[in-house]
Amino acid sequence: MDLVTVRAVCDARGGVRWEAGDAWLAGGTWLFSAPRPGISRLWDLERMGWRPLVAGAGGLEIAATCTVAELLAFAEGPDGPWPGARALMAGCCRAFSSSFKVWNSATVGGNVCLALPAAPMVSMAVALGGVCVLRAADGRERRLPVDEFVTGAGRTRLEPGEMLRCLWLPAEGLARRTVMRRVSLRPGGHSAALVIATSAAGSGRCAFTLTAATARPVRLPFDRLPTSAGLRTAIERAVGPRMIVEDAHGSPAWRRHLLAHLAEEARRALMVED
Ligand SMILES: Cc1cc2nc3c(=O)[nH]c(=O)nc-3n(C[C@H](O)[C@H](O)[C@H](O)COP(=O)(O)OP(=O)(O)OC[C@H]3O[C@@H](n4cnc5c(N)ncnc54)[C@H](O)[C@@H]3O)c2cc1C
Repeated sequence: MDLVTVRAVCDARGGVRWEAGDAWLAGGTWLFSAPRPGISRLWDLERMGWRPLVAGAGGLEIAATCTVAELLAFAEGPDGPWPGARALMAGCCRAFSSSFKVWNSATVGGNVCLALPAAPMVSMAVALGGVCVLRAADGRERRLPVDEFVTGAGRTRLEPGEMLRCLWLPAEGLARRTVMRRVSLRPGGHSAALVIATSAAGSGRCAFTLTAATARPVRLPFDRLPTSAGLRTAIERAVGPRMIVEDAHGSPAWRRHLLAHLAEEARRALMVED
């Protein structure tokens, strides 16, 4: 795809002077997939040199420029820490409606900032209690939980000139048990609904993260595993009619049904594991 309105592609390492019409360029899998008439200059993040994944006792830092392929290799590597979280990461990497060619270019940061309802990196990060580390053009940083960062389909709290530097996943979130359920209209297709249940070992506390069917991620926390009816009621209260996505990847009625169905499946799976 030729971006005919783009006048310049600049290396973001050299100091950024943000102007109207500027955009960050990460893997380019979305930017280069269709005309982008509003964009006149790209700031390329590829050579920022950030380590893709930094694991420590406190948690895991995933650089915005970490590719889906790099995250998948970490998630499926042998003998790593946080087995439940890594299984979830692998499931979410494989939830992309794309081939391995897209995985090798698409970045975690690009996926979160694009904030499509079917963004699997958003699903994963919300379920694990992830935080966005955002960097303004003047270098100042602020942190926002991922479920607050994404405000709607394709909408985020990014300010002009601000970039996502990394996702921070705290050790407490990474230690959770995880269950993921996902449905799409066809194998390898866009997610129509993606539900993740997590539970904190020993405490009974659990949470259900609803994505893909909803315009923005919905996280439902519980002090103990809810009953089937309790979970269904919580979903009905949290997901109003305007929250359900309406597009070619599934009808709203079907998607609403899937949310309740998949959440119940995940609840039962947590119950068995407890
Ligand atoms: C075949 C195919 C299948 C796809 N399937 C899916 C899917 O299932 N789910 C899904 O969500 N998406 C999907 N996409 C869309 C897209 O490829 C992914 O969302 C991908 O992760 C975007 O990452 P990227 O690095 O390529 O972003 P880019 O295309 O480089 O950028 C995407 C947007 O994010 C902004 N951005 C990028 N990095 C940052 C940063 N660090 N800080 C601030 N802003 C930033 C860019 O300015 C741009 O607006 C698909 C695309 C293709 C071509």
